[in-house]
Amino acid sequence: LRTPLTSIRMHAEMLEKNWVKSEDKLGEYYRSMRTESERLSRLIENVLDFSRIQKGKKKYLFKLGDINKCVAEVAEMMRAYAAQRGFQIQVQSGECGEIAFDSDAVTQIVVNLIDNAVKYSSNSNDKTVMVRTKSDGQYVLIEVEDRGPGIPYRQRKKVFQEFYRIGAESTRETTGSGLGLALVKRFAQAHNGFVEIINARPTGAIFRVSLAAKLQNNI
Ligand code: ADP
Repeated sequence: LRTPLTSIRMHAEMLEKNWVKSEDKLGEYYRSMRTESERLSRLIENVLDFSRIQKGKKKYLFKLGDINKCVAEVAEMMRAYAAQRGFQIQVQSGECGEIAFDSDAVTQIVVNLIDNAVKYSSNSNDKTVMVRTKSDGQYVLIEVEDRGPGIPYRQRKKVFQEFYRIGAESTRETTGSGLGLALVKRFAQAHNGFVEIINARPTGAIFRVSLAAKLQNNI
C-alpha cells in the first residue's frame, strides 16, 4: 500500500510547490496521481475482501447477466493504467449466453489478472494483454494472457496461496500484497469454478478462470 501512496504524495508535493513547469509534465503527474490512486483502491479492495473471507462474512450477489459486458467494462477501466506502462489490452468476446455471476467478484478477478499481466511482463518486448471469454457449455471461461516470463511449474499451486509472491523480497522490482491470485481462486470457487495457469506461446502466462455456467442454489 505504501508504494502508490509515496508516489501520490511525491507528485502532489511537486505540484504544490510549483516545481512542475511544462504542460506535458503537469499532465503526466496528474495522470500518475489518478492511476496510482486507482491502484491503491484496488489493493485496499483486495485486503478488505480477504478480511471478509477470513471472517466468513463475504457475501456474493449472483445475478443473471451478460459476462462479456462486465469483462469488457473492466478492460476499458484498466486501459489507461495499462497504456501508461506501454501496454495495450485486446478483448475477444466469445458467445457466453446469460449466466448467474457476482459482478463485483468477476470485476475483481479480471482487474487482478490484468494488473498482474501488466506488472509482471513489464520487461517483455510484446506489451499486449489479451482478454478472452468463451463457453464450453459447462463453464464460461475468462482468459487473461500476457507475453511475460510465465509461471514455472513448481510455483503454479503456490501463487494462489495468500501472501505468496515469487522471488526474494530484496530483489523484487514489483509491488503487491500477494493476495490477488488467492482472491481470484476464492471468487472462482464461489462460482463453482476454478482457475488454472497455461503456458502461452512463444512465452507468457494464460490465467484461465472457469465459472460454472449454471449455478445451483445460488439464485
Ligand atoms: P501480487 O501481485 O500482489 O504479488 P498475486 O497473488 O496477484 O500477488 O500474485 C502472486 C505472485 O504470482 C506474484 O507475486 C508473481 O510473482 C506471480 N505472478 C502473478 N501473475 C503473474 C504473471 N502474469 N506473470 C508472472 N508472474 C505472475
